[in-house]
Amino acid sequence: MKNITVIGAGTMGNGIAHLFAMKGYAVSLLDISEDALARGLKTIDKNLDRMVRKEILTEQDKQATLDRISTFTSLPAAVEKAELVVEAATERVDLKLDIFRELDKAAPEGIILASNTSSISITRIAAVTQRPERVIGMHFMNPVPIMKLVEVIRGYSTSDEVTDQIMELSRDLGKTPVEVNDYPGFVANRILMPMINEAIYSLYEGVAGVEEIDTVMKLGMAHPMGPLQLADFIGLDVCMAILKVLQDGFGNPKYAPCPLLVNMVTAGKLGAKTGEGFYAYTPGSKDLKVAYQR
Ligand code: NAD
Repeated sequence: MKNITVIGAGTMGNGIAHLFAMKGYAVSLLDISEDALARGLKTIDKNLDRMVRKEILTEQDKQATLDRISTFTSLPAAVEKAELVVEAATERVDLKLDIFRELDKAAPEGIILASNTSSISITRIAAVTQRPERVIGMHFMNPVPIMKLVEVIRGYSTSDEVTDQIMELSRDLGKTPVEVNDYPGFVANRILMPMINEAIYSLYEGVAGVEEIDTVMKLGMAHPMGPLQLADFIGLDVCMAILKVLQDGFGNPKYAPCPLLVNMVTAGKLGAKTGEGFYAYTPGSKDLKVAYQR
């Protein structure tokens, strides 16, 4: 494979495009607007600069990586030459089903269609296509260029051959793939999201403050980042969407998002990407200040 199409240039899509381009693939990056693409490219540029400063890449590597990325706002044009598509658009079932219906018509016959979804059923996504055996979950972790894990999710109909190809590709990208089956939240988010939700409940019920909760988990459990900071980093809207998938998928109210999380999402406090969640984020500053005051 040489040509990869990445759908969505947000937090994950720009990271996936960065990774593939850095590893020598030609990347077609698709989003719904030129603005979204420009923001994605700016983030890639900034993250590549950091790699140059750390001497992981040279300035020439950085330029070659950027030169391998082309941007599109039309799906048929973006997939014309694709040998693999990795979808990383907003975590909404209706949106993903529409994208996969269109992809199945427009993408070359026989190519693999992968989704980076955190929680939506791969079987359900695959079912709207005529190639369910070639649809698979390729769940990268944030930040994509740094994190080692790829959770490879087999839908009900995903073939052994396609699973093997994606496992091998993930290794070629320098990652460690882990194969899992298609149940709500897969493994990563089935375990992570209830922990984040419980941290938010602890704050909501006044058990402790933001920094106290995060410090307990960092120093007590050796987590590199506290659960509230991690939720800000993932995006509070993404966390809420995943919890709803767990709640609906298992029919169990224990997964219901904490009312505080719902309120913050409704108020547009989505975490780092909007400048405020549990903490406040100032561009260019590494200082963490608690924003949540109750
Ligand atoms: P995001 O909100 O940062 O970015 C989503 C992007 O998709 C936006 O730029 C949006 O304009 C674009 N988009 C929406 N509709 C589109 C369409 N029809 N065609 C093309 N682009 C479209 O979201 P994100 O955090 O990057 O999440 C993307 C996917 O990755 C989701 O499925 C999410 O569950 C998954 N994921 C997220 C994380 C994380 O830490 N944020 C981690 C692993 C997986």
